[in-house]
Amino acid sequence: MHDDITLTTGRARRVLTERIWPAVHGTSVPLDVEWHVLPGEPVSPQEGLALAMEPHEVGTPWGRAWGTTWFRLTGTVPADWAGRAVEVVIDLGFDTSMPGFQSEALVYRPDGSPVKSINPRNQHVPVSAAAAGGEPVELFLEGASNPVLLGHDLFQQTQEGDTRTSSPRPLYTTRRMDLAIFEAEVHDLALDVEVLLELQAELPTGPRRMRILQALDDALDVLDLQRIPETAAGARAALADVLASPAEPSAHEISAVGHAHIDSAWLWPVRETIRKVARTTSSMADLIDRTDDFVYGMSSAQQYAWVKEHRPEVWARIKEAVAKGRFLPLGGMWVESDTVMPSGEALARQFSQGQRFFEREFGIRSKGVWLPDSFGYSPALPQLVRRAGFDWFFTQKISWNQVNKFPHHTFWWEGIDGSRVLTHFPPMDTYNSQLSGEEIAKATHQFRESRHATGSIAPVGFGDGGGGTTREMTGKADRLADLEGSAKVRWEHPDAFFERARTELVGSGHGDSAVWVGELYLELHRATLTSQHRTKQGNRRNEQLLVEAEAWAATASARTGADYPYDELDALWQQVLLLQFHDILPGTSIAWVHRETVAQHAAITAGAQEIIERSLRTLVGEGDTALRANPAVFAQAGVPALGVGPATGPTAAPSTLTELSDAELPGGGYVLANDLVRVTLDAAGHVTSAVDLATGRDAVAPGREANVLQLHQDFPNKWDAWDVDRFYRNSVTDLRAAEKVTATVDDGVAVVTVHRTFSASSLDQVITLAPGSRTLEVTMETDWHEAEKFLKVAFPLDVRAEHVAAETQFGFTRRVTHTNTSWEAAKFETSMHRWVLAEEPGFGIGLVNDSVYGYDVTREVSDDGVAPASGVPEVTTTVRLSLLRAPRFPDPETDQGVQTHRYGLVVGVDTAAATEAGATFGARPRELRGASGFEPLVSVSGGVTLSAVKLADDRSGDLVVRVYEALGRRASGTVTVAAPVAGARTVSLIEDDVEGGAAEPTADGVAVELSPFEVRTLRFTRG
Ligand SMILES: [Zn+2]
Repeated sequence: MHDDITLTTGRARRVLTERIWPAVHGTSVPLDVEWHVLPGEPVSPQEGLALAMEPHEVGTPWGRAWGTTWFRLTGTVPADWAGRAVEVVIDLGFDTSMPGFQSEALVYRPDGSPVKSINPRNQHVPVSAAAAGGEPVELFLEGASNPVLLGHDLFQQTQEGDTRTSSPRPLYTTRRMDLAIFEAEVHDLALDVEVLLELQAELPTGPRRMRILQALDDALDVLDLQRIPETAAGARAALADVLASPAEPSAHEISAVGHAHIDSAWLWPVRETIRKVARTTSSMADLIDRTDDFVYGMSSAQQYAWVKEHRPEVWARIKEAVAKGRFLPLGGMWVESDTVMPSGEALARQFSQGQRFFEREFGIRSKGVWLPDSFGYSPALPQLVRRAGFDWFFTQKISWNQVNKFPHHTFWWEGIDGSRVLTHFPPMDTYNSQLSGEEIAKATHQFRESRHATGSIAPVGFGDGGGGTTREMTGKADRLADLEGSAKVRWEHPDAFFERARTELVGSGHGDSAVWVGELYLELHRATLTSQHRTKQGNRRNEQLLVEAEAWAATASARTGADYPYDELDALWQQVLLLQFHDILPGTSIAWVHRETVAQHAAITAGAQEIIERSLRTLVGEGDTALRANPAVFAQAGVPALGVGPATGPTAAPSTLTELSDAELPGGGYVLANDLVRVTLDAAGHVTSAVDLATGRDAVAPGREANVLQLHQDFPNKWDAWDVDRFYRNSVTDLRAAEKVTATVDDGVAVVTVHRTFSASSLDQVITLAPGSRTLEVTMETDWHEAEKFLKVAFPLDVRAEHVAAETQFGFTRRVTHTNTSWEAAKFETSMHRWVLAEEPGFGIGLVNDSVYGYDVTREVSDDGVAPASGVPEVTTTVRLSLLRAPRFPDPETDQGVQTHRYGLVVGVDTAAATEAGATFGARPRELRGASGFEPLVSVSGGVTLSAVKLADDRSGDLVVRVYEALGRRASGTVTVAAPVAGARTVSLIEDDVEGGAAEPTADGVAVELSPFEVRTLRFTRG
């Protein structure tokens, strides 16, 4: 026969789009609309409902950026609509080519109870399934006119990202506010046609596809385009057979879970996220009520806590749906945080604060960690996930890799300590699925474990202001449950999927074949380690201060009976955890968010300092003895870790400073020396040598200079605040010129100061060598006024390092320095915490920092490959710290102004010494006065490193001590509590009892055997 597939598909597509979908609400009457434009920030629903209203004509522009407009809609159901399903249809002026990221509204009844949200692709409000004629209708809308910041013009600089700079012009025009008949049969027909159209497009030309095409033609033949509601049932009958044909027995199985990825702040401030969550959850509670099997999953205890606090009427509906098992709290974290930069303690608190909230409010715990969208995953995570009591880990983001395709979808992810967690990446490569035919086919074809495993997960719904899952998506899921040619779709809890996946993987006998060891490096968004420096600096500072505050407060409680500030510490931690959200800590939010973040970090610092000072005052008593408190977990300045001792002077000989003549060093320079190292600076303040006096080894590569600032052009192809593209390295300017250099010895410390100017910016460095220190410390203040530049500081080191070690949570990870494979080449910018170390056996050089997370490493070889070989090739290693960037999107003023850094070059160290140097660098001793010092409450020995000393989260008064093995070897030591102790046991990372957790305290404390990088949490009951 003559066949023309495109004729049928073209026909079906046009009729579907232009006739069937518009006929779903074919008959409508306009509502009377009034409005009230709020002058400033949002008000509570109670206040909103009581506002004085004025008439609004639909078609009028409304909504300045970040504004709130309340609308009142009134009308009467026409008498001849009696018995019909009636809805309100609202179009606020949406651009439906984008599901979210624009204006939204929450719809309320006159009594203040929420109905559901209005979003670009979810514009209906149910009024009645069978209306009475003449029935009055009254609804209120809380309309938010959020500006589109990432629309069709991608990554363009904009001033709309802050109320301080946004324009007052209205952004939207109301288009429709009608009462309409909802034609359920037409809606069903639309979904029938859409599902079949999308399915056939993915099928090979064969019987199944051809029969679908014929059925579509048959259906369209009986559909009267002028009488669609009346003829829809007949058209559906023509499609019934092809829709009833069941799936193949081996069809891929998709575990769908309703979802809305709502970024806790990003292109909107936190206050708007609170409302986004309330809108989306209202819609999801409504959809749950209208379906039998749909389940909706939402992560982030913080988002639940917001709804509870700010929208109690929405909260009640969430609680009800959670109790029914249809609304699923997922993930067990406080927020979907970044996992690369937060400290080990902070990640532990993400889990403990998240799970405690879910337990308290819903009586449940999450079994898995749900992190679809953060930018790479730390190799410490598998252990922390497992020790926090989780069974599975879920993400999707690695599908965004620029270069390498990740080889598994369901696999074991193994961390630095050997812990494994069952991990799944949805092969659909999205966390905003619409259950389209294309997505379903992609999941089927891409899934890497089809030999042994039957299915994958699909998070279904529009995020970030799209309103979550739609009734069209649940309608599609109904049709895709068992359909020939398609994967089978069912709504289910991810726990059920993971349970099945585990059985399939292990039961197949191939459970070990899919294992990924080490970090899940995202080959994209590498600049998130550097953008918005103050946000990162606040994070690092406050992570340290809160751990310190807990330790002193716990000590004060044990020694003096002082009250432990549980509520204050919980509140401060929760704020730090929120600011670790995966668009805040990475520096990828609008100006408004980062402005608030810097202020919040300052407030957290003040709160933590207050607890620290109060606790220390209680402990040292009234007196005038000069004392020194050591907040670090290593002894320093003659004071043991977490103890307070007399403030004695330095025991090491003062450092010396010698000026060099032009004859000694061309141009002159300075030698800074102490008992351990001798450092030479040239006249411009660059380090020409740094000699470890014990070995005679020079840290600086021959003929090179270290501490050289380098400025790169940095204009990525996309995602300005997120990305640095490889080509940035092709051009570089060394900032060599120094305007002014001074040198002196101050209180035994050798000090050189350097002032430099470059383009529109300037910087001051204070370079110091303290007595008895291996660290050449640099304190730097930069007045930064650059655009699209990347500032690094380079250290060409005279070590042949095959890999460098970089601190991560509770240990370190090694990365090779070569670029043999595309995987290694893609890691041209990587992460560290407080230190990075380049070493040869017997000699290593560390770089420590107070607020840097990004670095890069390159190797240089003197052998240029041109014969003859003249000797031993010199291989050196250059490590560069990433200091500042200046992207213009989404915050056009990113990092402008005064920025501070502290970093240090540590000469002659191994991983143990680097760990200690990193830990003490950001936890300097505090000088104070009091009656007397005190011994630490907790001390450790035998290769055991302290992480936290606190009172238990359950407020029982038990002491919790977290320790770890930091060096990747076995440790056999003790944990001693210098206070009466009745018993001790090992508990989970979030302080739950674990099987076999008993540990008997002895006179020496508790004996602790740790395997490489093991984290152990101990709980002591007080005697
Ligand atoms: Zn996100």
